[in-house]
Amino acid sequence: MIITRPRDWSRIKANLESIGARRVFLMGCGQCATVAHTGGEPELREMAERMAEVGVEVTGWTVGEVTCHLNGTRLESRKHQEAIDAADAVLVLACGAGVQTTADAIGKPVFPALESLFLGTVIRNGIFEERCQTCGDCVLDQTAGICPVTTCPKGLLNGPCGGMWDGMCEVLTDRECTHVRIRKRLAEQGRASKGTLAPKDFSTALKPGAVDIHDRKAER
Ligand code: SF4
Ligand code: SF4
Repeated sequence: MIITRPRDWSRIKANLESIGARRVFLMGCGQCATVAHTGGEPELREMAERMAEVGVEVTGWTVGEVTCHLNGTRLESRKHQEAIDAADAVLVLACGAGVQTTADAIGKPVFPALESLFLGTVIRNGIFEERCQTCGDCVLDQTAGICPVTTCPKGLLNGPCGGMWDGMCEVLTDRECTHVRIRKRLAEQGRASKGTLAPKDFSTALKPGAVDIHDRKAER
């Protein structure tokens, strides 16, 4: 899931002031931002209170089911058309993808209320860890399901680096070195050492990424 954190309040205020917005509509997200406790119902209520404190009227709010889903967001916004029409701007409590679908779906100035941080794993409620950088040339098949690109703070595909000490990482000293973990887990699974991984082909993750599954089906 996409991990987000609240955006600096002064930036949100400045965005609204830049267009003289006195009324806003709030859009949250029922998926990642709800799980991250950044864009669910409680956070929207809190944002509505903050808006009231600075004299901005909230014309309405909704938590979109999947805000990064363009058609879903179009549908959701139609349900709240009157409140959106009454607003000068829409503040989106979702990841950057959700902000962009909202901007596509709504003909109003749209501003982000969150910062998008990373693609993360939910360790448990409220604890998230970055595990993948969507590099497009995955090596997890060779690394016993531990991503060296993301979980080694130096992003080393092969390691350990010279700073590893007693199995622990020299940068994040409270964590075991990623490359030590990879070796251990491969051994636990009775698999041969991965050896040296070949340099990655970063051209497979050209930005901006786009996938059309209809083309993909035709290729099969
Ligand atoms: S190798 Fe690339 S795709 Fe695989 S987990 Fe790591 S960053 Fe993600
Ligand atoms: S100690 Fe291991 S995980 Fe830490 S930076 Fe060096 S190679 Fe990466």
